[in-house]
Amino acid sequence: MGLAAALRALAAERMARELPLTEAAERLGVDVSTVSHYLRGDYPSERARDAARRVLERSAPFGLWPVLEEELGREVAAEVLRWLVGEEVEGRVRVDDARCVSCGRCREACPSPDACLGCAECVRACPTRARTLEVRYRGVRYEVRRER
Ligand code: SF4
Ligand code: SF4
Repeated sequence: MGLAAALRALAAERMARELPLTEAAERLGVDVSTVSHYLRGDYPSERARDAARRVLERSAPFGLWPVLEEELGREVAAEVLRWLVGEEVEGRVRVDDARCVSCGRCREACPSPDACLGCAECVRACPTRARTLEVRYRGVRYEVRRER
């Protein structure tokens, strides 16, 4: 099982403390029995979960996002990221008005317009490199911009 799937299982553990299983399953794009398997520890293996916890421990949200988005799709990836890092991340975007051409691609690309998850998808989507993302996460401040 891949990293993204193991991260989804870790997110399910957190969601199950606050949400009914049916809602957790729907948000995570799996069925209820899969969430039950996650919670019983049937799969992913403990080894896979430990590996995912280690990656989570040393990765910033914008580092996790590409693999989550590629393997789980945008909606589920955003849900997983929200439950795994949402309370610890503070993201803010600066726009260089001299570069911005008002194309709207940043808005279309953003998976979480109401609360920035620090995924940097809008920075990647901007064709003119007008955006700089400032992320504070677990006491560390990062700046993310597209170099080319
Ligand atoms: S504003 Fe940018 S960094 Fe924040 S969630 Fe949206 S796409 Fe991700
Ligand atoms: S993607 Fe870049 S150029 Fe387009 S509206 Fe957003 S900031 Fe402006």
